[in-house]
Amino acid sequence: MECDVCFHHCDLQEGKTGFCRARTNLNGVNTCINYGKITSAAFDPIEKKPLAHFYPGSIILSVGSYGCNLACPFCQNYDISMTDTHSAYYQEVDIEDLIRLALRDKENLGIAFTYNEPLISYEMILDIAPVLHAHGKKVVLVTNGTANQHILEKVISHVDAMNIDLKGDETFYKELGGDYQSVRNTIEYVYDKCHLEITTLIIPGKNDSDTFITEQAQWLSSLDPEIPWHLSRYFPRYKYTIQSTPKETIFHLKDIAQQYMHHVYTGNVW
Ligand code: SF4
Repeated sequence: MECDVCFHHCDLQEGKTGFCRARTNLNGVNTCINYGKITSAAFDPIEKKPLAHFYPGSIILSVGSYGCNLACPFCQNYDISMTDTHSAYYQEVDIEDLIRLALRDKENLGIAFTYNEPLISYEMILDIAPVLHAHGKKVVLVTNGTANQHILEKVISHVDAMNIDLKGDETFYKELGGDYQSVRNTIEYVYDKCHLEITTLIIPGKNDSDTFITEQAQWLSSLDPEIPWHLSRYFPRYKYTIQSTPKETIFHLKDIAQQYMHHVYTGNVW
């Protein structure tokens, strides 16, 4: 069976998982096996997602499971994104309980699906979002943006805001086991359908060139120069030992990006 959720199009053998470790072929049905298996849950400030222009000052219940359809060697959450159903430390949670938790505190904005890639488990979003919306809550996705178009079409009306990673150029995405064109397609599809912000983790020698930032800024501004763009400073993590990004690089690239985009933010430059 071919999985059509993302660009990998994994051949799902009976009982085996795909590249993301979150989906399997169960009796001929493409099944999300990390459904309801929560590795992390926290009430976070919305700015931490990061979303700077979406209900600033609010908190949001942020939840994640395990697995990812990319394999970034610098992943900040590799202890959950790179694990599977056997190695991940998770708690099985009824989605009714998750919804109850989100509704318990009137101040809570809703649920952010984050920490690992949420779109490989899009069924959870489809099951939870309508209930949250019926109670006036919001739904946020923090995603790598590499799900296929028909999955985006399924979820988009259930999502209020997204932060999408724009990690690098085509060559860099190949190193990550990713797909540059899928990310661009996703950004182009969603930017006028929900609130959208973009994050780029700036890594020395990988995506810190003036050319890369200029090209991305020109493309993003051709969509909408009002899209907030977060340029974050990288620190060594997981398999990467490249030295941390100098703060000056972040400020320099922000200057370039601001020639095209109206809201450019820096991250991790305290
Ligand atoms: S969602 Fe997972 S199983 Fe499906 S194609 Fe992508 S990586 Fe493979």
